[in-house]
Amino acid sequence: MLDKIVIANRGEIALRILRACKELGIKTVAVHSTADHSQKHVRLADESVCIGPPSSTESYLNIPAIISAAEVTDAMGIHPGYGFLSENADFAERVEQSGFSFIGPKAETIRIMGDKVAAIKAMKKAGVPTVPGSDGPIGKDDKKTIAIAAKIGYPVIIKASGGGGGRGMRVVHSEATLIHSIAMTKTEAANTFNNDVVYMEKYLENPRHIEIQVIADEHGNAIHLGERDCSMQRRHQKVVEEAPAPGISVALRSKIGERCAKACQDIGYRGAGTFEFLYENGEFYFIEMNTRVQVEHPVTEMITGVDIVREQLRIASGMELSYKQKDIKIKGHSIECRINAEDAKTFIPSPGKITTYHAPGGVGVRVDSHLYTGYSVPPHYDSMIGKLITHGETREIAIARMRTALDEMVIEGINSNLDLHRDIIRDGTFITGGMNIHYLEKKLDL
Ligand code: ADP
Repeated sequence: MLDKIVIANRGEIALRILRACKELGIKTVAVHSTADHSQKHVRLADESVCIGPPSSTESYLNIPAIISAAEVTDAMGIHPGYGFLSENADFAERVEQSGFSFIGPKAETIRIMGDKVAAIKAMKKAGVPTVPGSDGPIGKDDKKTIAIAAKIGYPVIIKASGGGGGRGMRVVHSEATLIHSIAMTKTEAANTFNNDVVYMEKYLENPRHIEIQVIADEHGNAIHLGERDCSMQRRHQKVVEEAPAPGISVALRSKIGERCAKACQDIGYRGAGTFEFLYENGEFYFIEMNTRVQVEHPVTEMITGVDIVREQLRIASGMELSYKQKDIKIKGHSIECRINAEDAKTFIPSPGKITTYHAPGGVGVRVDSHLYTGYSVPPHYDSMIGKLITHGETREIAIARMRTALDEMVIEGINSNLDLHRDIIRDGTFITGGMNIHYLEKKLDL
């Protein structure tokens, strides 16, 4: 087992990783910016190293500083969490070249999955269903491009191969604007992602976002942990997630899940990962793979009993998965609300000092958060300040517990989106379940 690791992240996920390390007897090194001295995980870690000023580019994205921290503290591995350097193949490579374990997939896997055209090609080869599309980059021959779009059928979406964070995409409704839209997306992609490769997909008009969690070890074992529904989104950002996805049958879950697990074996995947799909009219369409632990991993933990971060640490230590596919049983239903330091109506970020904090509790309630009374939310980073997760034998019970927990939670001194969640949890369409990815934005427009 790894003896000591660096946690190269901040906030709730750094605390989540620290807790898993403590349980496994792994010593921890918190690396943090000057703005994060008083973070909960920094105080609880065995050691801490300040790696730079508040700006992420000089701290949490500063590769030499993080590797030096691992060297001076004699750590064996680095856990990147999510965001920051977690999907940076160059970082993973440098970590391993410097003699540390990168707690995630091999650098080459991250590189392939970070290039959407390459990722889709690899998935197609592995038998994972993809969106009908251009089958590779759009070339220079306009006639051919027009023919491809006609065959797919309008609307189509032009996407940057190197894109991310919901940027670098353009929907095209007719042939009249196709070539011009491609040129514009290409220019944008070159400027934003330093990669002008674009491809085309059928634009699905009312899909749900459903994703499959997988874990795989270095010994060729790979299993899936079922699906999550993350359709409640605003600006391509997930707001509420749940598992299992309403209306997905056991047979369909097994079919798509097993495809994903097998794809992991085919590409030599290592660690925890997520296959993201759009789901429409009973069909799954792969859009991308996330090669890291995700924000919404707790809902899967709640229904399977698997500690995903613990598995990540075991896998990085060279151990075999603790479970076989037949050991994974879905039990009950779980929901997660992402709590952000932002106004519940205008979404304007609201950093500052927390004057009062009361976390809810009770049966089936989990709070993953680094908050405490007196903590100051710095203005330099993502606005997520915690996650409220509930579990119940049925979806109805999980919802009732979430309603109670949200009403009980108190965050004062800054604005939070608690009221938005209180509204969503009482929304008739959410209570029915199975809404599509446009639902929340349409609701907020009213
Ligand atoms: P990113 O890496 O930027 O998150 P994704 O490929 O995951 O890009 O797509 C982000 C979002 O864009 C999806 O969740 C969905 O809302 C929308 N989207 C992407 N591809 C399609 C498509 N073919 N049809 C409809 N919507 C799409």
